[in-house]
Amino acid sequence: MDKQVFDLIAAEEARQREGLELIPSENYVSRPVLTALGSVFTNKYSEGYPGKRYYGGQVNTDKLEQLTIDRAKKLFGADHANVQPHSGAQANMAVYNAWCEPGDTILGMDLGHGGHLTHGSPVTQAAQVYNFVRYKTLPSGEIDYAEVEKLATEHQPKILLVGYSAYSQIPDFERLAAIGQKVGALLMADMAHVAGLIAGGAHPNPLQFGFQVMTTTTHKTLRGPRGGLILSMGTVSNPWKKPEKTIENIPTLIDRSVFPGTQGGPLMNTIAAKAVSFYEAARPEFAEYAQQVVKNAAILAAEFDKKGYKLVAGGTENHLILIDMMASRGIDGGVAQEVLDEVGLTTNKNAIPDDSLPPATPSGLRLGSPAVTSRGMKEPEMVKIADLIDQAITNRENPAKLAEIHVKVRDLTAKFPLPSDL
Ligand SMILES: *Cc1c(COP(=O)(O)O)cnc(C)c1O
Repeated sequence: MDKQVFDLIAAEEARQREGLELIPSENYVSRPVLTALGSVFTNKYSEGYPGKRYYGGQVNTDKLEQLTIDRAKKLFGADHANVQPHSGAQANMAVYNAWCEPGDTILGMDLGHGGHLTHGSPVTQAAQVYNFVRYKTLPSGEIDYAEVEKLATEHQPKILLVGYSAYSQIPDFERLAAIGQKVGALLMADMAHVAGLIAGGAHPNPLQFGFQVMTTTTHKTLRGPRGGLILSMGTVSNPWKKPEKTIENIPTLIDRSVFPGTQGGPLMNTIAAKAVSFYEAARPEFAEYAQQVVKNAAILAAEFDKKGYKLVAGGTENHLILIDMMASRGIDGGVAQEVLDEVGLTTNKNAIPDDSLPPATPSGLRLGSPAVTSRGMKEPEMVKIADLIDQAITNRENPAKLAEIHVKVRDLTAKFPLPSDL
């Protein structure tokens, strides 16, 4: 009926099919996840929580949300799960609002060093409400743990926030938990990028190191629909009664903060799709996937290293790598991103720690393995991808050569169907 939107969906599907998706925060969902997302659950208003709703007609939504909660708890070993946040940003806002009063201090990673916008970037609303103090990475690319400890002691934050968008190493959760415990901060891990690796056993789970709250997106490595999730440790009680602000009551404080604190009705179709993705993530195939994501990223890093590219932190321990393009090839990340876009290789420009260039044209290029691994690509394809990227960068002023590279990208993607095709 609506030809304009139909054509745009078809064009986007072709773009996703024919290109190589290397943005580390993106992925491809399965057909069952898409089906649940497009289901009639989108028609239902379900403000509240299972068994405690505002409207009638909740016979199926109550069962669905409880099933989703139970699957999330089991997948991450949490006492409680709130599956309603509309996005990762909403999940983080709800936790800040659950635990902090306006003006309270939150200690998180600097955006320019791999932190996320929602961790206190001055352009966000949260930064107007709370006092964000930021730690950084060392020139080696590692978190500056000594600085975290110094800032925590000095500022006595209400929340110590761990978790990043452009950090290629595994944080020392034990050390960070000890710092937070020493100053009595709530230990919060934002695992938006690596939740799928955690679910698949390819990355440590912060909840096993004393962290009390873990937020995540569901659409990155976790390979679910676009959305948020909050896991927590503590006792769950009736969300209708305002509990005392104690660590033990964190699950209830979070439920009240999501609804009615910061959101209205949950997106029940998205919750259905989250449930399907948690089912998929609990299967042995997903553990294999998570291991392969890490292996593939390591191959990409090793190949770029061989070709003389300079990687932030020298390599990767997870799914992403950050290349210092300026130091490697004398071009900024924006120029690199554009050249790669021309040949069907999708990446993103990104600041490197203490970048001397502005955010619109930063020194770095961020890329990762989650989406191409979802298409079934393994070590040999990673070697090819690193080569295609290098060829495109090297021949960036040679249109004929770029056209040839684009054909090679299409040839490669033609052999690997999208998960939603299977
Ligand atoms: C992606 C991301 C978010 C935000 O998720 P949205 O769904 O885009 O709001 C939050 N924190 C981190 C660390 C992220 O990488």
